[in-house]
Amino acid sequence: ETVVNRIAAGEVIQRPANALKELLENSLDAKSTNIQITLKAGGLKLLQIQDNGTGIRKEDLSIVCKRFTTSKLSSFEDLNTIATFGFRGEALASISHVAHLTIITKTSLEPCAYKCTYEDGNLIGTPKMIAGNQGTTIIVEDLFYNIATRKKALKNPSEEFAKVADVVSKYAVHNPKVGFCLKKQGESLTDIRTHPNSTHVDNIKAIYGTNVARELLEVDLEDEKMKIKFKGFISNANYATKKPHFLLFINHRLVDSTALRKALENIYSLYLAKNSYPFMYLSLELDPRNVDVNVHPTKHEVFFLHEEVIIEKVKSAIEAKLAGADHSRAFY
Ligand code: ADP
Ligand code: MG
Repeated sequence: ETVVNRIAAGEVIQRPANALKELLENSLDAKSTNIQITLKAGGLKLLQIQDNGTGIRKEDLSIVCKRFTTSKLSSFEDLNTIATFGFRGEALASISHVAHLTIITKTSLEPCAYKCTYEDGNLIGTPKMIAGNQGTTIIVEDLFYNIATRKKALKNPSEEFAKVADVVSKYAVHNPKVGFCLKKQGESLTDIRTHPNSTHVDNIKAIYGTNVARELLEVDLEDEKMKIKFKGFISNANYATKKPHFLLFINHRLVDSTALRKALENIYSLYLAKNSYPFMYLSLELDPRNVDVNVHPTKHEVFFLHEEVIIEKVKSAIEAKLAGADHSRAFY
């Protein structure tokens, strides 16, 4: 049974970046305002995330790593909305099957923090009382130590680091009220740092460069009949990063939609300045019942109902913005 669980867990957790994405979302769900991430060997040796959120209640410590343990479903109504992305209560459980997992956590109700280690979904021993501040630190060590093939396939720490940094960058832009910090263990220089109570623009500037931020166009749209809300920033001056950036959040989860991306890239290319690449950050809020529930957690691709109509609406809002802006630079 352990092997079967491990294989299933390896499907959910495929590399440091997607483990981190799950952990980041947990920290954000716990209302953290500061999130610090520390990596060693691109997250393969160590992937640590420290937050100042609500913490995990003492009575939940023995079950948090069991499959389908979640504090995020309270009624059937919730199940319809929260299950939007098709899976709940699997992240910590999966990680505990494919890595050494330690959790240090303190709620406002406890006088001290507790430290716990987990293996294959189970708490090992009992929680140990230690000193600590409110919040949670999740320490993931030796990812895939027990899956030889996976470990072999992930040989390049700098590639893994880049993928983690990409995820952190995107969440930092989407959550400007939260301060993010990403660094490599033992190094004093940080790779990413944003401050709490920043704005989307501050963070785009800090992460993607002043060029990108200088020519940002803000786009937004609300359509009550279709139950769509959408906000975002696009830039026509993405020279420095030398590649396109497409940051798409649907209902606050980082996803990809090839259909939407392609449609936007097509119109965008007409307005793009020379030697520049698309930069788009879009946050789309849709009726959760219209977003496909059967998407696998590792597949970022989402599908939603009325996709064509929605894409058309987003597209024309962006096109109107682009057409109205001064794009003289685009022609020489
Ligand atoms: P899910 O997020 O779908 O509920 P997870 O396996 O990601 O499942 O997490 C299990 C539970 O552990 C969460 O529902 C939450 O109660 C708790 N938890 C995990 N990470 C944190 C955190 N950083 N702060 C507070 N609680 C957390
Ligand atoms: Mg989670």
